[in-house]
Amino acid sequence: MTSAAVLAGGVGAARFLDGLVCVLAPGDVTAIVNVGDDMEWAGLHISPDLDTVTYTLAGLVNPETGWGLTGESRRTLDRLSQLGGPDWFMIGDLDLATHLYRTHRLSQGEPLSAITRDLTARLGLQCAITPVTDDRLRTVVETDNGELAFQDYFVRRRAADRVHSLRFDGAESARPAPRVVEALDECDVIVIAPSNPFLSIDPLLSVPGLRELVATNRSRVAAVSPIIGGAAVKGPAADILQSLGHDVSALGVARLYADLAGVFVLDEADAPLAAAIEEETAMRVVVMPTLMTDSEAKQALAEGTLRAALNAG
Ligand code: GDP
Ligand code: CA
Repeated sequence: MTSAAVLAGGVGAARFLDGLVCVLAPGDVTAIVNVGDDMEWAGLHISPDLDTVTYTLAGLVNPETGWGLTGESRRTLDRLSQLGGPDWFMIGDLDLATHLYRTHRLSQGEPLSAITRDLTARLGLQCAITPVTDDRLRTVVETDNGELAFQDYFVRRRAADRVHSLRFDGAESARPAPRVVEALDECDVIVIAPSNPFLSIDPLLSVPGLRELVATNRSRVAAVSPIIGGAAVKGPAADILQSLGHDVSALGVARLYADLAGVFVLDEADAPLAAAIEEETAMRVVVMPTLMTDSEAKQALAEGTLRAALNAG
């Protein structure tokens, strides 16, 4: 049986993983998830990318947003707002239980990875979902309007500020969470999910040792482009490519991953870029539909990505 480790952000990664756990035995899938988005909100520890991946794989995610739980209300948030509390980050009533559970256990000194393992087991998930690190790692965004904590930039200010640079607070001293190195070492295929390269993948790889570990295994790494036809499917990936001086295209993304991945999965819409990407990055390019509109599309992308990575070596 083939096993896979997936470097994952939030929504894009969650959709990819949703397909992957249908084409592999779920127990052979490990999602290594970004925690650069994590924050303290109203005294609670929020891990947005871990929750998006978990809720999606559990079939509980709100299909309209791609995050949060389906069928939840904002009654608590509205009440909090009336009290003058922080109300700019949408936390639904059911989602709140996750944050209470996680924060309570963290306050007792338990590591995020163990809490995540229990949460996912309780939801019946067989795949492994782990934070990339149990240590504190926070994405900080340097913008035209000063330095912003990640969720300030992303949610409160709606990713509208021009980004000059990014840094990952705590990265230098962060250690990989318990099963991360083992999963990367032992899996047949490593996938860089169609996630934001700057806000989801970079923070993950900033944990010392991980970038080198992925690069060393380049021949079994496949990266899926989050850019289709020069635009992000959602979110600020294209804007950030531009503001940081990269080509706003799948080629721009491919250059970022040249040393990390042996295979680059390019959308059909970008097929004309294939030759240039192969020439510049020495990655093998495979062209397929990458828009994950439904479960068939998710599974086809997961299957095609695995096949390409397994043939790459
Ligand atoms: P976030 O943490 O929720 O922002 O999620 P990610 O970083 O995992 O994913 C955001 C990225 O996923 C964006 O750059 C999107 O362009 C990309 N994305 C979302 N849906 C799709 C899709 O169906 N196909 C592809 N190729 N990329 C997607
Ligand atoms: Ca995220």
